[in-house]
Parts: sequence; C-alpha cells; structure tokens
Amino acid sequence: MKGIYLTGPNQFSLQELNDPVPGKKDVLIKVRMAGICGSDVHLLRGRNPFAAYPLVPGHEYMGEVLQAPKNSGLRKGERVTVFPEVGCGKCPACMEGRLVHCPEFKFVGVRVPGGCFCEKLVVPRERVIKLPKAMKDEEGAMVEPTAVAVHAVQRGGVKRGDRVAVIGGGTIGLLTAQAARAFGASKIVVSEPIAERRKIAQIMGFKLICNPMEHDLLAYVKDEIGLVDVVFDVVGFKKTLEDAQAMLRPNGTLVLVALPHIEGLGVPYQPIFAKELRVIGSRTYFMKDFPLAIRLLQAKKIRVKPIISEVIPLTRFHEGVEHLEREPEKYVKVLVRPTP
Ligand SMILES: [Zn+2]
Ligand SMILES: [Zn+2]
Repeated sequence: MKGIYLTGPNQFSLQELNDPVPGKKDVLIKVRMAGICGSDVHLLRGRNPFAAYPLVPGHEYMGEVLQAPKNSGLRKGERVTVFPEVGCGKCPACMEGRLVHCPEFKFVGVRVPGGCFCEKLVVPRERVIKLPKAMKDEEGAMVEPTAVAVHAVQRGGVKRGDRVAVIGGGTIGLLTAQAARAFGASKIVVSEPIAERRKIAQIMGFKLICNPMEHDLLAYVKDEIGLVDVVFDVVGFKKTLEDAQAMLRPNGTLVLVALPHIEGLGVPYQPIFAKELRVIGSRTYFMKDFPLAIRLLQAKKIRVKPIISEVIPLTRFHEGVEHLEREPEKYVKVLVRPTP
C-alpha cells in the first residue's frame, strides 16, 4: 500500500509500504478521509520534540472496516473513526478513558506507529468508534478536532447564558466557538486577524467577530458584552494571555487550548490572584468526548463544511502541507483522500 513516510525533519514522501496485518483483536481499516492538523505540520517540519522517527503521521481520520474480529460488533464496510491515543490500559486514568492523564500516554502518528496518511491501517478494537450511517466522510474525518473543542468547553464549564470569548479563529477556534454555543453560551466573541477566517465565523452565524489588528480586543469585548465568564486562548501568545485575563470577570475561567510551543510565555500572576481566576489546561480529549462530538456534528450544532478548504489525493500531500503553511488566508482545513 501507499503511505506518507516520515524519517526525520522535512524528510517525508509518498512510498510503497508493507500492508498492515491485523492481530486477533485488531480491526483492519481502509482510510477514506484524513485531515492535516496544524500539529502535523509542526511534526513534519521537525518541531515536535516527541516525534519517534520513522513513522506514518496523521491522527484525524475516518475509514471503512475491511476486517474485524469475531463478536466485535463491527462489520465489513462499516464506517468508523479512531481514538488516536494510547495509554498503559491499567491505571485509573486509562480505566476512565482519560488517556491523556496516563503516565504512559502516547499519541498515534507521533510517538507510536499507526498514523493515517496511508491507505490501510490496523487498530485495536477498543479504539475504533462507529460513525452514524448518514454522516458524511468529511464530518467523520472532523470528529477528532471536534472532540478537542467539546473537551475544551467542558473543561471551561461553559453553561447556559455564559459570555464567552474565543481567541483564534482557526479550525479549533471555530469548532470551540460552535461547541460553546451548543453548550448554551449566549454571547460569544470570536477574535481572528485573517479576514477569510472571520468570514467563516460569520457564515457559522457568529455576530461578534473582532479583528484584533484593527480593534483592541479587550476594548471590543468590554464594549460588546462586558466581562466574560470563560475565555478560550487558542493562540497562546503573551498578548492573548494578558488580554484573556483582563477580560475575565472575577472567578472566571481561562482555558488554555493552544499548543504551548512558545518559550518563556510568562503568565501574569496578578490578575489570576486578584480576580481568583481559574486557569485550566485542555489537552486533546477524553474517550467520552468522541461520541459527544459525533452527536453534535449529526445534530448540525457543529458545522465543519465552511472550515474545509480542499480535499486532495494522497499524491498531492506535499501541496496540502504547503497550502496550510503559506496561505493561511485560503486554507484552514485540508483533507486527504488516500484511496481513489
Ligand atoms: Zn490534530
Ligand atoms: Zn494508563
């Protein structure tokens, strides 16, 4: 089969790989649609310190069952998505589906093999999740990033009537804003410097959209909705962290969703202390967030179509990566179709 093989920073190409062979408890899956994540771009360019080369990258995907263990509840041809994290399987965190809290936590396609930018892969049954029949392939491939968003709004405790700010309107920001709305937030400000992405937020029905290059975000939020209950920082700059804390009401919650790839950020202590703020990390998801993400996608409470910029074959993988890197105004989410 064909797949993208990464042997070191920037060293990746489409190669002929061995067909995976399923063990007794494994499901053999044909990948139908896979998303290129921002974290994949970092990984391909050598900016992920956890990378264990060589590997096939990729963790956002859906596919079709080619072969499943007996009594697994899965049949040939069924459409599925996959939970892309592994843990020890024994600790309390693993037992509760919080694999991200396991001391042996690893991410598929980064630390362990099994990435999705290839035609076929083998996955243990317990990480395979069925998709509803009516769900489109594009939506199935977006379940994973949607799970990131529904996890973040639960971490932030978003509830009916909340005033919320989402700083950053890329894939995760736009999904988080929709998830916050689905959880009942009544006033939501989305902040995003790229005009095309602000347009997508508008298509999704958001009214309070700020261009932080033109308006001071803090002043905009205060004018439009006052102090907010929950802020999601999906950017992770010093400035966005400062703004986030300044716009929160006392006892409000700051959720850190951005990958902490910037050194020496320095979180201002004073506002956290003075307003008794809650500062909460949100790193990927728990197992239970996948079924919830599927339900919200199915109910059209979260829409992914406006985020999808293009669908390309695996042969054009390099192009897709370059689009995301060089033209963020045109490309938000690029999906790859490994098989014709
Ligand atoms: Zn991702
Ligand atoms: Zn564990």
